[in-house]
Amino acid sequence: MVKLDPALIDEKCERTTCIDCGSENLTRDAAGLYVCGACGAHRPRAVIITPDIRWWLAADGEYWHQTAGIFVRNDAGEYLLFRRTRFPFGLTIPAGHVEVDEDPAHAARRELLEETSLDARALHHLGDVDIPGDSCRRGADAHRWNCFVTEAGGTQDVVLNQEGISPVWRSLPEMRAATELTLATSFLVNLYDADLRPAAHAPGRGR
Ligand SMILES: [Zn+2]
Ligand SMILES: [Zn+2]
Repeated sequence: MVKLDPALIDEKCERTTCIDCGSENLTRDAAGLYVCGACGAHRPRAVIITPDIRWWLAADGEYWHQTAGIFVRNDAGEYLLFRRTRFPFGLTIPAGHVEVDEDPAHAARRELLEETSLDARALHHLGDVDIPGDSCRRGADAHRWNCFVTEAGGTQDVVLNQEGISPVWRSLPEMRAATELTLATSFLVNLYDADLRPAAHAPGRGR
């Protein structure tokens, strides 16, 4: 749990601090780790506050972010996963932070395009859910997810950006059995299991 001082709630606030000691004396090494000049920690994440993404503090001081995620289903009924090159490591669905003044559906489309080069067709909104314990590189240990599902275009190739490697298509049972999912992706696969079954959002169901 990362707690922040409510005094930081300032639209123009922008800073990066050590997740261990709070020092702003941070540099990044060649591997992308945050290196603290005060306490010596080398970490894959820092507490980063920027005015461009949606964030808030809960009553207990917990630092929250908002994230849009999208399940992309192909004609074979499989879903797109890729391996994250940044914290949190593991297999993920395309996802990313929702920007200030950005509609979550727009964020889902934008992240899908940025991370995989895929253009989303119609989005189906699966739901919104708070996931405490979902940690990110920017220092939050809690995220509110806006989750969507879409059908992949038959002729589009997946081209990952620097945030991911090794794209794979996995059936729902394969995703449920996968042991390398990120915490959030695992949570969402289980939560939306019924909605992710192939017939659940097929055309003609009126959904
Ligand atoms: Zn430190
Ligand atoms: Zn975050």
